[in-house]
Amino acid sequence: MREFAPFRNISVVYEEGKVMLTFIKAQRHREKYADFQVYRVTCDDYLFNEDYEDYQNHISFEQSVLIDHVRINPEDSTITYRYEDCTVREGVTYAYYLKTEGVALFSGPVLVRPRNNKLWMPYKMIENEMNKLLKSYPDLVSIRNHGYSIRQKEINSITIGNKENIGLSFVGLIHAGESGPELMLSVIKKLLLEQKELLFKTGISFLMNANPDERERNVKGVPWYLRVNANGVDINRNFESGWEVVEYGYGLDTSMVSSPTYRGAKPLSEPETRAVADFIDFCHADVMFSFHCLSSICTDSFLVSKYAENNHEYIEKCMLFLKPYTKGFGVKDKVSIYYGTSYGSLPHWLYEKYEMPAFDLELGDVSDEIKDMVIHDRVTEELLDEYSNRHYKGICEVLKNVYR
Ligand SMILES: [Zn+2]
Repeated sequence: MREFAPFRNISVVYEEGKVMLTFIKAQRHREKYADFQVYRVTCDDYLFNEDYEDYQNHISFEQSVLIDHVRINPEDSTITYRYEDCTVREGVTYAYYLKTEGVALFSGPVLVRPRNNKLWMPYKMIENEMNKLLKSYPDLVSIRNHGYSIRQKEINSITIGNKENIGLSFVGLIHAGESGPELMLSVIKKLLLEQKELLFKTGISFLMNANPDERERNVKGVPWYLRVNANGVDINRNFESGWEVVEYGYGLDTSMVSSPTYRGAKPLSEPETRAVADFIDFCHADVMFSFHCLSSICTDSFLVSKYAENNHEYIEKCMLFLKPYTKGFGVKDKVSIYYGTSYGSLPHWLYEKYEMPAFDLELGDVSDEIKDMVIHDRVTEELLDEYSNRHYKGICEVLKNVYR
């Protein structure tokens, strides 16, 4: 007789220091199950940004170790179970299988990667930090809502300093597995603590988490890099300008629904894109910096619209901001500017609509050691602090030089 896997709808998340598995009995023969057994594989060769969902095809049940055996009452009407594993380490990827006595087949694997919450901040923690700042600096801080994500998370911005004269604007996490709040929050705190004078003159607005749904999945342990929103749309291809032109960056096709660069069914189709557009309208800032790259870090490597390369006047305007930012950042003598962002991207939209200096911040040239940490999700708290401090100094230089 054919056998069936014992459990289904298995979900796995990492929260508050433990891995939580939830699952339900499969329909067939479920009245017989008197236990569940949890098996685990430590995936030592898993590599972020190289391995995706298909990695699970490369592991097998034979590699797993039994970590627990839980009796259940077959008479009990519940078919939903919960299991917590506290014996995991952050920065390691695990695969889980479930079995039951008398059934040879197993369910799984499901994969999870426990992550450090200082390097991958949960949505609630970001919101709490913003509210704490509002309480501590009621005259210098304001919070504003710009809409809701697909899963109904509020998309909020925080403005510090002069609300009537917002000079700089920042957008984080347009791509879920990239950078934003972890760098920006400590920048905001330092500016409020040390640069009140500069802030009285010029305001700065931050929309730190533009893609909260998918970011939260990475925060809660999805091991692989996530990029698009919960609808599968790349927010950075969903803006209005040039949207109708199909782009082939990274060898991908923006009109393909399954592509990580899918542009969406129409311009501004996504609530997250509309929230960012609302934020831009609200700020009326002189410049926009959008944080990208990977796993919470980006550097002073600035991408502008690839269609702006021959607009010398515009590039000069960009340099006004980029020269002091680069100087303050303190790594290079020369500005790293690349003509790279596509049609439908936020920088291109701002270039075409307002000729506004607008940049995606990426990784650029860094040492092999730092590159390995950033692209493979091995960033440390020290590295995060270092880069956050560099961005802080870059922003201070811009405030001092452009808004004298
Ligand atoms: Zn990106």
